[in-house]
Amino acid sequence: MRKKIVAGNWKMNLNLEEGQKLTSEIVNMLKDENIKDVIAVLNPPFVHLYPVKKLIGDTPNLFLGSQNCSDKASGAFTGETSAGMLASFGATYVIIGHSERREYFKESNQLLTEKTKQALTNGLTPIFCCGEPLNIREAESHEAYVKQQLTESLFDFSPEEMSKIVIAYEPIWAIGTGRTASSDQAQEMHAALRTHLASKFGQELADNISILYGGSANPGNAKELFSKPDVDGGLIGGASLKSRDFVEIVKSF
Ligand code: PEP
Repeated sequence: MRKKIVAGNWKMNLNLEEGQKLTSEIVNMLKDENIKDVIAVLNPPFVHLYPVKKLIGDTPNLFLGSQNCSDKASGAFTGETSAGMLASFGATYVIIGHSERREYFKESNQLLTEKTKQALTNGLTPIFCCGEPLNIREAESHEAYVKQQLTESLFDFSPEEMSKIVIAYEPIWAIGTGRTASSDQAQEMHAALRTHLASKFGQELADNISILYGGSANPGNAKELFSKPDVDGGLIGGASLKSRDFVEIVKSF
């Protein structure tokens, strides 16, 4: 069955004390809310993984993720962090191919295939990001653009591997801009991506893949976005840094 997922992407924010405070608040709020059928994931910077995992403990439905992993298993790659290391810290999710990584660190579709392989090999669930810049949306070629990102990065995986991947559609023009895609725009793209996945991997598999929306989602618009049949949750940036906002989004299904 398709999972409902809300993943918070802290990006390069919060010092140790602030990260611990945010995590403790989320843990306490989620315990009170007793949320059953939604998976919440915290994706802090690498250095916060261990303390955040300790605070998460065995909180039901709350998991640890990372914002990135290396495309290599181990070795002389100064400054890199492998998927195996993340798994050993108790991470179960990893964001791959965020548009900021694609843009600022020049991560290509081919490199992202290697990162996704590393994640899968180490038992992590990749949250694979895709999405178009504004000029592509304005030229109305967004659907072809995003489909191509999936084709080039993911279409050589086996159906078994593909079934373990979560997709996050994040229109770049909506990330951190306060300009959310409308729920109809999100639904249209999510449905198109599901059809695209079905064309390669079959309808049943595509129907079971979670496709998250990301881009200025907040407690005020999450309910409307999540009400759409092909929107299975969200990847949340700015609003994931405020405990109450994040938990309200988790409750928005
Ligand atoms: C993101 O960084 O993945 C994101 C969706 O950011 P924001 O929610 O701040 O737009």
